[in-house]
Amino acid sequence: MERLIVIGSGPAGLTAAIYAARAALEPVVLAGYQYGGQLMYTTEVENYPGFPDGVLGPALMQTFRAQAERFGAKIHNVDVTRADFLRRPFSVWAGEDRYEADTVIVATGASARWLDVPGEANLRGRGVSTCATCDGAFFKERHIVVVGGGDSAMEEALFLTRFGSRVTVVHRRATLRASKIMADRALAHPKIDFVWDSHVVACIGETHLEALQLENLLTGEYSRFAADALFIAIGHDPNTAIFAGQLALDRAGYIVSDDGVHTNVPGVFVAGDVYDIRYKQAITAAGMGCKASLEAEKYLEELDAERAAGGQLTIAAL
Ligand code: NAP
Repeated sequence: MERLIVIGSGPAGLTAAIYAARAALEPVVLAGYQYGGQLMYTTEVENYPGFPDGVLGPALMQTFRAQAERFGAKIHNVDVTRADFLRRPFSVWAGEDRYEADTVIVATGASARWLDVPGEANLRGRGVSTCATCDGAFFKERHIVVVGGGDSAMEEALFLTRFGSRVTVVHRRATLRASKIMADRALAHPKIDFVWDSHVVACIGETHLEALQLENLLTGEYSRFAADALFIAIGHDPNTAIFAGQLALDRAGYIVSDDGVHTNVPGVFVAGDVYDIRYKQAITAAGMGCKASLEAEKYLEELDAERAAGGQLTIAAL
């Protein structure tokens, strides 16, 4: 029986673990088999405060992990496969292994959607990326392609004009899904051009991206399109499949919270991209992890006080 389980080991989960460990809660972190979150898939991180010369994403997450372990967090590299937040104590399973706890922080993050086309996986981090703020600066004066027609794609394209000599948006229709203001900005930008009614069917290059194979969806014609970088901005999916029926989720699958910390189940807290559809930054996720941990600590104090009073566990019964 644990006091606190943290599910997830990106900046949100490990910051929560650092705070909880320093509060002597001995948190158990169910980190995932591929622990560390989305920063494990980036190279240089230049916007995380405290690292004036930048830091590699995986190295940064290693420091988070070491800091949490230093204060007594117990980190298990296991994937959570099931959760029961309807009964108390809360139960979480990793395969056959069951963990029980008074409180849980859900920080399972979100996964950027990839195109799932040939060449893409091989060129990830070598010209193919899902994060303009992470990787855009590596493509100064280069030709950059952005895929997508929503607000994210327009935001990425506009941001990338700071670096690229030219930014081409490839969209599968002839109408943008983005809000008018974002669409107008992108359409009017002198560095941005558009390839309409087309999608990427392959990423071409050996050691780095050299070109894309495009298909025109109206004519069925294929073409080779030279490009130094491809930024995929076709949306994110929150990692919440295992919480369906356990926590309130919105239509897109994000965990519902009035304040970005509490969920609809008292004692279960949320942090990071699994809730945050807007900012999705490592530093904002870390801040949310801190808040969730402080709230969990307060909740546990109240629970302890009720138990000590020997009364009915009104919090737990909520
Ligand atoms: P989105 O609105 O769902 O747009 C995704 C875009 O990617 C769509 O244009 C879609 O094409 C395209 N797409 C999806 N799957 C594709 C595939 N396999 N191949 C090629 N294209 C594909 O997602 P989002 O842009 O990430 O925005 C998500 C939410 O966050 C929205 O509510 C948005 O308004 C909000 N947001 C707001 C801001 C802002 O206000 N500054 C910034 C970012 C995001 P179709 O259009 O054909 O479906």
